[in-house]
Amino acid sequence: MQEVQPLFEQAGLPQALIYTFTFVLGLMIGSFLNVCISRLPREKPEERSIVTPRSHCPKCNAPIVWYDNIPLLSYLLLAGKCRNCKAKISAVYPAVELLTGLLLFACAATFGDSFVALKWAIFSCVLVVLIFTDMFDRILPDPVNYFGLATGLLLAFFFAPADSAAGWLAAKLFAYPPPMPVLSFVDALFGAALGGGLLWLVGEVYLKWRGREGMGFGDVKMMAMVGVFFGPLRTFLTILVGSLLGSVLGLLFILLRRKDSDYELPFGTFLGIAALLVIFFGTPVVDWYLRVSGIR
Ligand SMILES: [Zn+2]
Repeated sequence: MQEVQPLFEQAGLPQALIYTFTFVLGLMIGSFLNVCISRLPREKPEERSIVTPRSHCPKCNAPIVWYDNIPLLSYLLLAGKCRNCKAKISAVYPAVELLTGLLLFACAATFGDSFVALKWAIFSCVLVVLIFTDMFDRILPDPVNYFGLATGLLLAFFFAPADSAAGWLAAKLFAYPPPMPVLSFVDALFGAALGGGLLWLVGEVYLKWRGREGMGFGDVKMMAMVGVFFGPLRTFLTILVGSLLGSVLGLLFILLRRKDSDYELPFGTFLGIAALLVIFFGTPVVDWYLRVSGIR
């Protein structure tokens, strides 16, 4: 493992200040993620821009002034209503902001004030967008998946692999293991191949079995992206946890809503939630598996 660089510690900032800063930064990023979540899945390409136009009320079209656009606070101060027309503002907006704030805080608290925390923070943000676009629109937007894929591959050069798969293989194959960036990059590729490949396979089997498409190609791209950040072991764990979540919650949902079995579940949402869980709780599970299986 490479040395963790304590960025803020060098600057002599107290821990509480760093955590507060990360949380507030998370709220603001969450505000931007809201824009991505509501605009990227739209049908008309000209409506998908995440830069223009400025935010406006979906009901009365009044532009939202800056002081009504403060993450979390504005929603509370306006009691969840548009200042102009009093239409109800969806509680999803503050929920996404709060979730992103908490996730960034959790990254800082779990991984320390280091570049490693930054990697998992970026990944968390990508997952938040995918979780909600799939939940509301059954869409995992290409730009989000491609952004994650490219960023994950680039970051692989700078970080030790999350996974030991490539290192394990290299130790078997070569007398002198390749340098860390190479191992890390190969590990990311392994993860992408496993994640994308497995989801593609499941989709093909489902297609043969039910005679129709059960999964979009978006899930395949999403899991390839997840694989780039995680490497193969945690990617497999993500698919396992995501399928379990999907089965349990899906069954519950069908029972409660009495929907027929053709109801399309947001599998991407479950995979996204699973990936978030694996970021913070995956390490003990992977370590346990490696010990029990005798690999480590
Ligand atoms: Zn309004």
